[in-house]
Amino acid sequence: MSDSKAQFADRIIDGKAFAEGLRARIGVAVSELNAAHGLAPSLAVVLVGEDPASQVYVRNKGRAAEAAGIAAADHRLDAATSQDELLALVAKLNDDPGVHGILVQLPLPDQIDPAAVIDAIDPAKDVDGFHVVNTGRLATGQMSGPNAALVPCTPLGCRMMLEDRLGDLSGLEAVVLGRSNIVGKPMAQLLTQASCTVTVAHSRTRDLAAVCRRADILIAAVGRPQMVQGDWIKPGATVIDVGINRVPRPTDDDPDKMGLVGDVEFDAAIAVAGAITPVPGGVGPMTIACLLANTVTAACRQNGLAAPVW
Ligand code: NDP
Repeated sequence: MSDSKAQFADRIIDGKAFAEGLRARIGVAVSELNAAHGLAPSLAVVLVGEDPASQVYVRNKGRAAEAAGIAAADHRLDAATSQDELLALVAKLNDDPGVHGILVQLPLPDQIDPAAVIDAIDPAKDVDGFHVVNTGRLATGQMSGPNAALVPCTPLGCRMMLEDRLGDLSGLEAVVLGRSNIVGKPMAQLLTQASCTVTVAHSRTRDLAAVCRRADILIAAVGRPQMVQGDWIKPGATVIDVGINRVPRPTDDDPDKMGLVGDVEFDAAIAVAGAITPVPGGVGPMTIACLLANTVTAACRQNGLAAPVW
């Protein structure tokens, strides 16, 4: 453990432990659905090509699903797979009542338009929450009932950790750094729904440091290693670092060694912040746990059952 981690241990939001707790609750919910309704939630994960990072993610997702009692089937397709072949598989999974969640791992090879594939997934099975029907439901606040949004996993996990740490978020100033469809935009919508006052900042924002300094809650999702400096953070703020950046971390034994850092300069930030997620061990584990939660939610809704409140 680094000196700053040890000195400010109570400021660390332990996403790994939080995700373990969530996965245990999901496991209980799955057992109950099995016993009471004979329902066995299942997830289909589609991987096209050999991208090494995607292979690791898919393997981790499969393992986590099985540990929670969720049946996970991998569909591995050749890198030369055509868009039509992939769409045919998605159509088959859409029609299979034994499949409750479908995830097509991104990025896809160049010959395939990811938007066309996401559009083809049945919104009720879209456990990534990327289909326009789900993004529309999130944007319009359709968050309960059989036709509620399935919410993208990373921002969903961030909100859970924030509410666990801070309780009621209403009235807080939130700054979301990044405006992507998978993190920044849905995060801003979830925080708006939680009655925060939300600013979305991006590469064209003027005086980013001053904007960040206003934040009671700062979400960093830019993909720039340690861009957010300690003096960008309001004393006592809660910082959620979504970034996952591979950087060189050479040692005497291994000059090519790589390590992971977030978008926030952790050692400087933890000395100022009230709470902060580390990288690794913060947002990442929650993303996978929320994928499992979404799969159970989807399975319940497809079977006319109320989804658990996570
Ligand atoms: P994108 O590249 O899609 O979006 C990055 C956003 O950051 C854009 O809105 C961009 O602005 C903004 N940005 C980039 N550079 C700057 C800058 N210098 N100043 C201000 N804003 C900037 O990334 P994602 O949203 O997909 O991912 C962000 C990070 O989160 C990545 O590190 C990714 O690996 C990580 N991630 C982690 C996950 C997890 O499970 N922990 C899951 C998903 C992502 P503009 O729109 O103006 O270009």
